[in-house]
Amino acid sequence: MALLITDECINCDVCEPECPNQAISLGPEIYVIDPNRCTECVGHFDEPQCVQVCPVACIPKDPAHPDDPPTLWARFQRLQSATGSAVPLPADSAAG
Ligand code: SF4
Ligand code: SF4
Repeated sequence: MALLITDECINCDVCEPECPNQAISLGPEIYVIDPNRCTECVGHFDEPQCVQVCPVACIPKDPAHPDDPPTLWARFQRLQSATGSAVPLPADSAAG
């Protein structure tokens, strides 16, 4: 599934930079998750990073987007090909 931010969100801005897919942005009132970019962190991490950092636990699974694991993997691969890169390399990998 993609995940969903509920109206319990306090706009703390902690989750947005943690998302490896740039799926989180500030909406009209609270932060929102783009279901076309959320992979539940599949391909990047073992656990959803936004859920890990949210101080008010307001990021449940989105019942409107009940994606199975193959769908999440396909989304991850589509996003990677769209950016023209694989999983980001460590910052120092280009040196020497
Ligand atoms: S579960 Fe992962 S990919 Fe989905 S919004 Fe949260 S941080 Fe981004
Ligand atoms: S971490 Fe939780 S409370 Fe903070 S902006 Fe994200 S969803 Fe909202």
